[in-house]
Amino acid sequence: MIWNKEVECMSREEMQKLQGERLKNVVERVYNNCEPYRKRMQEAGVSPADINSIQDIVKLPFSSKKDLRDYYPWGLLSAPLSEIVRVHASSGTTGKPIVVGLTKNDLASWAESGARCFSAFGLDKNDMVQVSYGYGLFTGGLGAHGAGENIGATVIPMSSGNTQKQIMMMHDLGATALACTPSYALYLAEAMQASPYKRDEFKLRVGIFGAEPWTESMRKEIEQKMGIKAYDIYGLTEIIGPGVGFECEHQCGTHLNEDFFYPEIIDPETGEPLPDGEKGELVFTTLTKEGMPLIRFRTRDLTCLHREKCACGRTLVRMDKIMGRCDDMLIIRGVNVFPTQIESVICEIPELESHFFITVDRVNNTDTFEVKVEVKPEFYVPSDEAKMSSLAKSVAQRITSVVGIQPVVVLVEPQGIQRSEGKAKRVLDKRVFAN
Ligand code: ADP
Ligand code: ZN
Repeated sequence: MIWNKEVECMSREEMQKLQGERLKNVVERVYNNCEPYRKRMQEAGVSPADINSIQDIVKLPFSSKKDLRDYYPWGLLSAPLSEIVRVHASSGTTGKPIVVGLTKNDLASWAESGARCFSAFGLDKNDMVQVSYGYGLFTGGLGAHGAGENIGATVIPMSSGNTQKQIMMMHDLGATALACTPSYALYLAEAMQASPYKRDEFKLRVGIFGAEPWTESMRKEIEQKMGIKAYDIYGLTEIIGPGVGFECEHQCGTHLNEDFFYPEIIDPETGEPLPDGEKGELVFTTLTKEGMPLIRFRTRDLTCLHREKCACGRTLVRMDKIMGRCDDMLIIRGVNVFPTQIESVICEIPELESHFFITVDRVNNTDTFEVKVEVKPEFYVPSDEAKMSSLAKSVAQRITSVVGIQPVVVLVEPQGIQRSEGKAKRVLDKRVFAN
């Protein structure tokens, strides 16, 4: 179902006109109310008068996570603190957390964005959504919560953790949708299987998964294990939280709520804008935000954009699944390696669970690359050394064929890799601490 046809199916010309008007407003807002923005624009020789259409966006300087840290906590507010009704902070996956402030209108447009997502996932007021993203400073819990309430669904504010209770509530209350990270979904899927309840005693049919990169193979695995349909939801704290983008029933990319969040793709090295279809760093400008608008914010997420109309009828631009972040990328012996590449290989090997852990180190000036993978109980026979070592060898070969360098594969026993209740931590790069 399409929540807001007028916007989601708007013609490209109308959308650009709306984006242009909103860009002009937000640029005036930051220029007049936020010293660091005014300074930076002055240094770049651009003023609000130069912004008359969405195409003019390229004249504006970029902003980054570093700015949010430098002006921590309130230096980038464009509204008085008295107008701020909610604070959130990024989960700090890649360093010190940053805080953001939202006004009442910001919360309303967040709930609108979320409602578009949840409707696209086929949910409405008859559904019951179990929100198992963490509640608190992290945007996942309250973001999904607001979306669920806005469409009139019944929301179970579970938060993450306490897996047994999650399963009990899901079963007893009859949750039809589950919102959490894909890695926690996998954990919950195992817990559902191990629970005393049979699958047909659950009413679950839809998964609302995001907050971390995940692959198509991971999707298949979760769908199979849980017996549900799994959808991607995308967002980041700086921009708003979950609801920036969502998949429709055709699942051919993630539609972005571009009337609120204007996306661009740039070359991460040079900062030059890239055409549709080319992979690069995703950049967002918040077109309506009041509390802490961000102009050309560099997300570090790598993807590409497609603007052809989708079979679902929406004209909202689509992005490919996020491949990872620029800062997720490991450079091992000079070769670029993304954890998502390892995930896609592992999910396709029937003997393995999709839990893995990568350790990179430097020994005698050479990078070491180890991948620990968990073997399914029925294939785990430590007494049969030949069998185990041939499995390890074949896993190593398949990883090598995808990433171009050879890992040392270590097979671990069932449940041997720690499960995640939020965003999965799958990499330890010990080289960071060297020198
Ligand atoms: P942190 O940067 O500390 O993890 P956030 O919780 O704001 O803080 O995380 C936002 C980031 O999470 C995004 O920039 C992106 O890298 C990742 N992310 C969120 N949703 C998705 C998704 N559906 N697919 C891939 N990555 C996602
Ligand atoms: Zn679509």
